[in-house]
Amino acid sequence: MNFDLIVIGGGTAGVLAAIKAASKKVEVAIVEQHSVCGGNATLSGLAEFNAASFLKKPIYHGFEKQIFEKLLEQKAGKYYYQLPMSSDKDIKVDRLRYNPEILKLILEELLSKNNVQVYYNTTFESAKKTESGFTVQAENFGHPLRLSSKYLIDATSNSLVADSLGCQVQPMHSNDITVSTQIFRLSNIDLRTLQDFIDSGALSAVVNQAFDEGIIKGKILAFAPIPGTMDASVNVTRTNTDYRDAQQLSEGLR
Ligand SMILES: Cc1cc2nc3c(=O)[nH]c(=O)nc-3n(C[C@H](O)[C@H](O)[C@H](O)COP(=O)(O)OP(=O)(O)OC[C@H]3O[C@@H](n4cnc5c(N)ncnc54)[C@H](O)[C@@H]3O)c2cc1C
Repeated sequence: MNFDLIVIGGGTAGVLAAIKAASKKVEVAIVEQHSVCGGNATLSGLAEFNAASFLKKPIYHGFEKQIFEKLLEQKAGKYYYQLPMSSDKDIKVDRLRYNPEILKLILEELLSKNNVQVYYNTTFESAKKTESGFTVQAENFGHPLRLSSKYLIDATSNSLVADSLGCQVQPMHSNDITVSTQIFRLSNIDLRTLQDFIDSGALSAVVNQAFDEGIIKGKILAFAPIPGTMDASVNVTRTNTDYRDAQQLSEGLR
């Protein structure tokens, strides 16, 4: 199967690259290892886009703007302006909090409207440079899939494609490898009571105490209410483990 462009990874970066190209009549395919697009934005439990605007002024245009507007229209998105980062209270950013389930549908609609071919549950394995472009080797539940294209975009967020092609990639600094975070969704919360608890400073006291007693490894405990629900996405704290070591990472997440 031959395409003008293959995008490896269907996170927000990959989806936006694909629909922008497809809207200009480029034949595009996405290879995504999961059964849904959006990557971290839909699958990890994240429910807010940081820096979605700047001091209330829009900074995104085109498809990004369309996605934000659709979230707002469907009451599945809400702006919060100049919220402090939980990691550093002096840094304040505008945020758009959203329902990841609705974001999945919006991305899917844009992909099909723009005729992007998505290969779900398909894991990228390797890429080769050819005279006319690239070949991609992937697999779907043990079944090999071979695709070719003129252009290739690495949107895996781990430089997997660039690495496979022998490109020079910048390794992460050893201090940065411990940033994996535990995120989960808490349901059926009285969000008003939770907000009062946060505003009163009681949450900071709990976080400081847990940090001092060594129960958590970083002072991050961020709640993002999910619009249209009684749920919140909770971004706990750094696990302080090397995410590349499966055993260490699993221990850190427990
Ligand atoms: C813990 C954490 C918290 C964050 N919090 C926030 C936040 O609150 N707000 C915010 O705005 N940003 C946040 N970010 C940053 C944000 O998640 C990233 O900037 C964003 O997800 C990057 O999008 P992406 O499409 O490049 O990558 P990703 O979302 O990582 O997407 C990569 C895609 O590639 C696919 N893929 C990977 N390998 C393969 C393979 N071999 N074969 C096929 N598919 C593959 C994955 O399944 C995934 O769908 C956070 C990041 C992390 C890690």
